[in-house]
Amino acid sequence: MENWQASLADSITDPDELAGYFPCDTDALREVVARYPMRISRHYLGLIHEPGDPVWLQCVADPRELIVDGLSSDPLNEEALSPVPRLIHRYPDRVVILASSRCAVYCRFCMRKRKVGCGAEEWGREGLDDAFDYIAGHPEIRDVILSGGDPLLLNDDELESILRAIRNIPHVEIIRLGTRVPVTLPERVTSRLCRVLKRFHPLYVNTHFNHPLEISHQSSEACGKLADAGIQLGNQTVLLKGVNDDPQTMKRLMQKLLAIRVRPYYLHHLDLVRGTGHFRTDVRKGIAIMEGLRGHTSGLATPYYVIDAPGGKGKIPILPESARFEGDRLILRNYRGETIEYPY
Ligand SMILES: *Cc1c(COP(=O)(O)O)cnc(C)c1O
Ligand code: SF4
Repeated sequence: MENWQASLADSITDPDELAGYFPCDTDALREVVARYPMRISRHYLGLIHEPGDPVWLQCVADPRELIVDGLSSDPLNEEALSPVPRLIHRYPDRVVILASSRCAVYCRFCMRKRKVGCGAEEWGREGLDDAFDYIAGHPEIRDVILSGGDPLLLNDDELESILRAIRNIPHVEIIRLGTRVPVTLPERVTSRLCRVLKRFHPLYVNTHFNHPLEISHQSSEACGKLADAGIQLGNQTVLLKGVNDDPQTMKRLMQKLLAIRVRPYYLHHLDLVRGTGHFRTDVRKGIAIMEGLRGHTSGLATPYYVIDAPGGKGKIPILPESARFEGDRLILRNYRGETIEYPY
């Protein structure tokens, strides 16, 4: 067993165990965990300062997850957009493969809450061959995204065999990997893993930091190793009430990401997923956050703010208003709120 596997096996899944570190209502938590499993890696546990802080809110089960809120468990219609069970084909030229059912930490706001972490067992290799056949039979697919769950919870050999199968399909140009392990289980990013990954370039990694507190020394090292393997690192943040829904926190997060060689890619408005309503914020707050970034700090620190449209209709960028046509003029608005007329 590798070190990271041992540390994963040592994560906290039981409310009683959590109660050994922080006061919590174990009876209430047990009820939630029976429906939506909890897992907190030792590394992530170490980032909690106190109950209710931004790290705690993301990883500790909460009775509000069980509120019957009328929301769908699959608002993006992923099940219907799956021609084979482990693959989602929504856009013309790219697909998502659900490579693993597990994560090092089960985020309480996860949009795949309906399946991630549920069922005790890893999905295994079955079903993946159907996904590879599907891609091989669709020459328009040039971009394959490994997601899950977290593909980096597979061991190096499993991962390598998946990457090789994808690379053997000639029309696939790029591979992307979506993973939260740089945040939640940075010890997973071993030199051996980096050696495996760099054999399958062009390969891009998107990670998922939501708060400056998550940028630890170990995370920074993990991202540095990936970057040294020639991998471009992007970041997807989810806008979460009480965690990162203010302009200062978000600006600091984006700046610190660049400092660890990660380029902010998307800021996601929270999907309308059952059991996550307590994390929901107003879209106007997201726009205000974007206003606080654009022009006020490096353009590189500015992600796209997107709403993933219900029904699987695609990610749609939401921009603060910056230009409108008026007669023969274009009225521009700059980051300080000044208007400038511009001939078009
Ligand atoms: C987000 C997403 C993608 C990738 O979108 P990009 O904008 O290319 O990053 C692809 N398929 C599905 C189903 C997605 O949700
Ligand atoms: S790491 Fe991603 S897939 Fe896993 S629980 Fe968190 S949000 Fe969901």
